[in-house]
Amino acid sequence: MRAGHPERQRYCDRLCFESYSAKMSGDPEPIARSSAVEDYLERILDLINTKGYARVADIAQALNISQASVTNMVQRLDAEGLLKYEKYRGLVLTNTGETLARNIMRRHNLLSDFLRMLGVDEEVIFHDVEGMEHHISPPTLRAIEALIQQLQAEPRLLAQIKDRTHGR
Ligand code: MN
Repeated sequence: MRAGHPERQRYCDRLCFESYSAKMSGDPEPIARSSAVEDYLERILDLINTKGYARVADIAQALNISQASVTNMVQRLDAEGLLKYEKYRGLVLTNTGETLARNIMRRHNLLSDFLRMLGVDEEVIFHDVEGMEHHISPPTLRAIEALIQQLQAEPRLLAQIKDRTHGR
């Protein structure tokens, strides 16, 4: 299905986060679910959790983009009510921003766990998950979650899958 195709549109109407949050908020064009926004929120929450604060310079370094671009995006996120700049604490996520950030982190961790379980290399896991996490729908995520639990209960089956994956 290609973007703009009626089937694709129906699919999005039912499942996509963008349409879902648009309907919930009544916003015509929410930026809240774009991949870029999710990457920022994910990185900011990660910095706050690990370093205690998130500065523009740290975000720029973590996402490998210019500080000017980060400043620009931070202003948009502020305007969307996803974060606030506080003089002494730096960037602080609002409740909405933190909820979105935790959600993307949960998707990241679940997908990483799944690929790690299958014996995929860490570098590949990170590369793939950074893309997958933005596009996966709640039903597919739930299916993968169920699969993880089932495979954990069946180590022999998991070993067989790993053997196949690695061509043994
Ligand atoms: Mn991620």
